Amino acid sequence: MYKIAVVGAGPSGASAGYHLAKNGHHVTLIDKESFPRDKPCGDGITPQSVRGLATMGIEREYVKKFASEYHSWNSALLGINDRDYFYKFSDGDLGFCIPRYVLDHLIYERAIEAGCIPHKQSVNNISQFSSDFKQEFDYIVDARGIFAGECNLIAIREYWSLPLECLPSKYHSSLQVYFDISLGISGYLWIFPVALNDKLLKLNVGCGYTIKEYKQNKKNLISVFENIIANHRFASNLLPHVVTRTKKKVYPLAMTKWNNKICDRNIFKVGDAANLTDPLTGEGIGNAISKSAQ
Ligand SMILES: Cc1cc2nc3c(=O)[nH]c(=O)nc-3n(C[C@H](O)[C@H](O)[C@H](O)COP(=O)(O)OP(=O)(O)OC[C@H]3O[C@@H](n4cnc5c(N)ncnc54)[C@H](O)[C@@H]3O)c2cc1C
Repeated sequence: MYKIAVVGAGPSGASAGYHLAKNGHHVTLIDKESFPRDKPCGDGITPQSVRGLATMGIEREYVKKFASEYHSWNSALLGINDRDYFYKFSDGDLGFCIPRYVLDHLIYERAIEAGCIPHKQSVNNISQFSSDFKQEFDYIVDARGIFAGECNLIAIREYWSLPLECLPSKYHSSLQVYFDISLGISGYLWIFPVALNDKLLKLNVGCGYTIKEYKQNKKNLISVFENIIANHRFASNLLPHVVTRTKKKVYPLAMTKWNNKICDRNIFKVGDAANLTDPLTGEGIGNAISKSAQ
């Protein structure tokens, strides 16, 4: 059995810590933040993420019982330029949305229950950390997210709350993703339902595009986002009904890249640190959880 430091306690670090501790290793789970903590995200949990969470005993019923905010989805709308393609899944509830403030805390708690020792510390240089603590740790898992990975996409997110009846019912439990040419070839706008509180539907609204196109555009991401939602055929109709809007948060993403080096001597990278986000969908939680389990 090994002594292992997992640095970063987001979905990848906490999942890696959970599985390592369950397998009898001595795990110290280090993060610079105290949990619960926010992480800008679309909050979309896909079937892959649902399966990954289940390996840690975080089944759908568990999430429903313990999560303060949660909303399942059963359909998806894909908008490409002016055309919309709506798909209702026959399997019923496939995935859900849950604010990361809530989800990451659930996974973190599972890791601690499994035996991980929590420790608050900022580790800026992982090689230095490895050599400074070579007596204490046989292996290091680098799960510091995008700050240890390579940033190749930039995104912005905010939350809107509006009366449920202001949204056509077919969108109440639907993930909406719109590819918009103003965001370049791979950029998109998303609108995801994350919670229903007292007949107010909370939506996660955001957009992202590649760093390359962002630099070519030379436009501020906040004004790009404001412009898109003000002119968008669906989002612009919601805007007059929005009761509360949170502060916008800009955050980078780490999409998969070729020849990705994820291991260096006794240091292994997982999740965004290893650039494991899907380049097409922007989904990173599924790989963060399931690859950490392996
Ligand atoms: C705007 C946006 C929308 C997204 N939407 C979705 C979506 O809808 N669905 C989806 O599946 N994925 C989505 N993603 C991707 C997803 O958020 C990431 O893939 C996922 O968070 C990766 O998890 P992680 O544990 O690797 O990293 P993180 O969640 O970033 O966790 C890293 C942890 O490391 C800690 N840390 C960082 N630096 C240090 C340090 N120096 N010392 C100690 N600790 C440190 C942090 O505090 C944090 O807790 C989105 C990403 C963005 C930015």
